[in-house]
Amino acid sequence: MKMWIDGQWVDSVSGGVMPVTNPATQEVLDTVPAGTPEDAARAVAAARAAYPAWRRVSAVERAHMLHAAAAKMRDRFDDLARLLTLEEGKPLPENEEEIDWSLNTIDYYAELGRHVRGRVPPSPGEGQLSLVLKEPYGVAGCIVPWNYPILLLVWKIAPALAAGNTVVINPASLTPLTTLRMVEWAFDHFPPGVVNVVTGSGSAVGDTLVRHPDVPVIAFTGSTAVGQHIARATAGQMKHLHLELGGKDPFVIADDAPLDAAVEALAYAALINTGQVCTSTERVYVPRAMLPQFSEALAERVARLRLGPGIEPTTDVGPMIGAADRAKVIEHIADAVSKGARVLTGGQIPDVEKGFFLEPAVLVGVDHTMRIMREETFGPTIPLMAYDTFDEAIALANDTEYGLGACLYSHDARKVRRFYEEVQAGTIWINDPLTDNYAGPFGGMKMSGIGRELGIEGLEAFWQTKHVHWDIEGGVKEWWYPY
Ligand code: NAD
Repeated sequence: MKMWIDGQWVDSVSGGVMPVTNPATQEVLDTVPAGTPEDAARAVAAARAAYPAWRRVSAVERAHMLHAAAAKMRDRFDDLARLLTLEEGKPLPENEEEIDWSLNTIDYYAELGRHVRGRVPPSPGEGQLSLVLKEPYGVAGCIVPWNYPILLLVWKIAPALAAGNTVVINPASLTPLTTLRMVEWAFDHFPPGVVNVVTGSGSAVGDTLVRHPDVPVIAFTGSTAVGQHIARATAGQMKHLHLELGGKDPFVIADDAPLDAAVEALAYAALINTGQVCTSTERVYVPRAMLPQFSEALAERVARLRLGPGIEPTTDVGPMIGAADRAKVIEHIADAVSKGARVLTGGQIPDVEKGFFLEPAVLVGVDHTMRIMREETFGPTIPLMAYDTFDEAIALANDTEYGLGACLYSHDARKVRRFYEEVQAGTIWINDPLTDNYAGPFGGMKMSGIGRELGIEGLEAFWQTKHVHWDIEGGVKEWWYPY
């Protein structure tokens, strides 16, 4: 495939290409241009040139164009979900959900973008008007990881476009194909330069967007390490940054939790997308008295999950994205075992010829000295730790540098209230882990990021604020010179 710059399908100026592979089969699906800093600069120039006219397009017209994009995605729903399954690996139903959430998010921002443009606060004196105006920034650089390549991109480009910005997208090198098809099938009616996609590595293309003086706002989702790099690289330019970063989400099982439902909720929270979700449950706290029965039920449930290529209808858990990612998970398990943890099920590479599969693992006997309880594992592991009091469970949940999400299973209102008041995380899920609601904000506390996506906050992220003070009558004021 080619990439999309200034309304044209183009190759890289370097002529280079990079392969995109299926993580379930390791087969090459296609190639995309290996974009360079020059390609990124070309896209920024196109987006900058398109901005003045795009900014003046009425909010109603922008809403029509966004609704049209969502409708076209609906028309190609199956093709998009299938291609996403082939390049990203997770099971088809999870990709169908990703496309569904994405096009609904576009419809949501189409409406939100035409609803409000600021506010009118009371002015300090008679005959005066104060206007708080929301204005776009210009060119928004949008950089996304491979794990939810369409959803996380739409969380950026739908509000950015609705707010009147133009966008330059750098998809993850591992998953650019569905992004290119989505733009080809659903965003071709936007004026040239308003939407641009530059494929290529983050260090070549993403980094150019980050440092480019004509890109005043960067919306990034990815690791905390790259987020820190972006913050450092842009400090001199005072760029506006939205950083959605890593996590180490806790799941607390309360002593009143119904065992069966809590086991099902936990298996889903930890293993959806093979545990490769920023808000995957990565550590679990279970009342000491419940732990033996709970861990046995969980291990039995997890052992029954069917591993396979995401495209197969019988698959519950797909492959991981790559060999290095899988090796890191195995290291975390080995580190835990070397310090006294016990694996109840999984943790092995299954006997298949191809694909980055790993059997989902359940561990007990873990504690906070182990990497599996401190560092982002980003794979199919469920480490269970015993706690004695709810105070202790909350302290353990907060004992992390991250603050993305946190889950609780309980019907005890006092515990629920304490949990959402005291746990430091951007999203708290009670009895319904990992559900998204595009009308509510999503983002991290602590090292999990800066800013919020979704909701009105997600639109505000792509606006800067201007205060206009207007004295309509004019005239000389008594507080002017002379004193
Ligand atoms: P990553 O940080 O390695 O890469 C993310 C993106 O940044 C990729 O597109 C990459 O090409 C680009 N990039 C790399 N170097 C760059 C640079 N110097 N300048 C600009 N861009 C650069 O992350 P990943 O491995 O692709 O994704 C997994 C990580 O993403 C995990 O840490 C996960 O928690 C996080 N994540 C966070 C959220 C969230 O909403 N908070 C959602 C999904 C994933």
